[in-house]
Amino acid sequence: NKQILLKSRPVGEPKESDFTLAEAPISQPGEGEVLSRTIYLSLDPYMRGLISEGESYAANVELNSVVVGGTVSQVIQSNHPQFQAGDFVLSRNGWQTYAVAKGATLQKLDPSQAPLSYSLGVLGMPGLTAYTALLDIGQPKPGETVVVSAASGAVGAVAGQIAKIKGCRVIGIVGSDDKRDYIVKELGFDVGINRKTEELNAALKAAAPDGIDVYFDNTAGVILETVLQQINLGARIPLVGLISEYNATSAPPGPNLRPLLIKRALIKGFLVSDYQHRANEFVSDVAGWLKSGQLKYQEDVVVGLENAPRAFIGLLRGENFGKLVVKVSED
Ligand code: NDP
Repeated sequence: NKQILLKSRPVGEPKESDFTLAEAPISQPGEGEVLSRTIYLSLDPYMRGLISEGESYAANVELNSVVVGGTVSQVIQSNHPQFQAGDFVLSRNGWQTYAVAKGATLQKLDPSQAPLSYSLGVLGMPGLTAYTALLDIGQPKPGETVVVSAASGAVGAVAGQIAKIKGCRVIGIVGSDDKRDYIVKELGFDVGINRKTEELNAALKAAAPDGIDVYFDNTAGVILETVLQQINLGARIPLVGLISEYNATSAPPGPNLRPLLIKRALIKGFLVSDYQHRANEFVSDVAGWLKSGQLKYQEDVVVGLENAPRAFIGLLRGENFGKLVVKVSED
C-alpha cells in the first residue's frame, strides 16, 4: 500500500518535503468493514487547514499519518452486507492506494450515471457547496448581478453557471487569461476578470455598472474588500472560502472572517429606517417593560444648548453615560 504521510506541518506555502512517500502492508477488513482500492483522490483547499496546527472545520492530520481526502474507490473485499467486490464507492481513503473503512461510511456510486470522478466535484462536495451557498444564501434573482471569485474552480465554475441558469448577469474573477477565456467562452459567464493583470476595482465597475447583488466569496482578502465597495442595497454574500489566507503566516489586516465561516454566523447590514412598520409593536412592548421595571433606562442630561458641542465631542470620547440629551429649556 503506497501512502503519502504528513512529515512536517507546512509554514506558509506547503513544500514537497512536508510530505513523504511510504509503503505499508494492506490491512485486512474486519467485521462490517470494506477494503477498497483508490481510483480518484480529491484535492481540495480545505486540506491546507487540516495539515496545519490549530482550529479547522475537521480534525487535523497527525504528523506521520496518511493525509486525508475524499476518494472514489473500488471494493476489493467486503465484510459489509451492502457492498460487494467490484462496487464503486465514495470513500475517504486519503492519500493512499488502498484503505479499509467501515461500510457505513461509504456511499455506493453508479458508474452509468456520470463519470466516477464527478462525485468528487460537480456532483459531489464542491458542487453541493456551489448549489446550496448560491441558492440558499445568495438567493439570486433574474436580472441581478452575481460576482464569483476563484470562478474557474470546482466550486466557482458551478456557482457561476447556476447563477446564469437563474437568469443573472455573472462576472467571474480568475487568476489567468486562459481561465478568463474559459469561463466566458466555455461556461457562458458574461465577464471574466484576471485579478493578476487587471485593476480589480475598475474592472468590476466596468463589468457591473449597476453594482453587485450577490458575491459568492471563495477567497476573502482583497477581492472581498474590493467587491464590498460596489455592493447594492440588500446584497447577499455567501462566505464560502478564504483561500487567499490559507498559506498566510500572520493574520491578514482587517477583521478575521474565519469564525464567521466556521460558525456559519450571519452578518447582515441594518438600517433602522427599514423597520418603521414595527414602530407600534415596539412602543407597546418597551413602554410595558419600562413600566414593569423589566427594562431600565438611564439618561445623561446636559443643561444648556451652549454645552451641546462639548457634550457631543464627549460622546465620541465616551464621556457620556447613558443616552445623552441636552436640556435646552424647561419642560
Ligand atoms: P478551486 O478549484 O477553486 O481551486 C482554488 C483556486 O483558488 C485556485 O485555482 C485559484 O484560482 C484561487 N486562488 C488561490 N489562491 C488565491 C488567492 N490568494 N487569491 C484569490 N484566489 C486564489 O478550489 P475549490 O473550488 O475546491 O474551492 C474554492 C473555495 O471554496 C476555497 O476557498 C474552499 O476552501 C472553499 N470551499 C468551502 C466549502 C465550505 O463548506 N465552506 C466547501 C468547499 C470549498 P485563480 O487562479 O482563478 O485565482
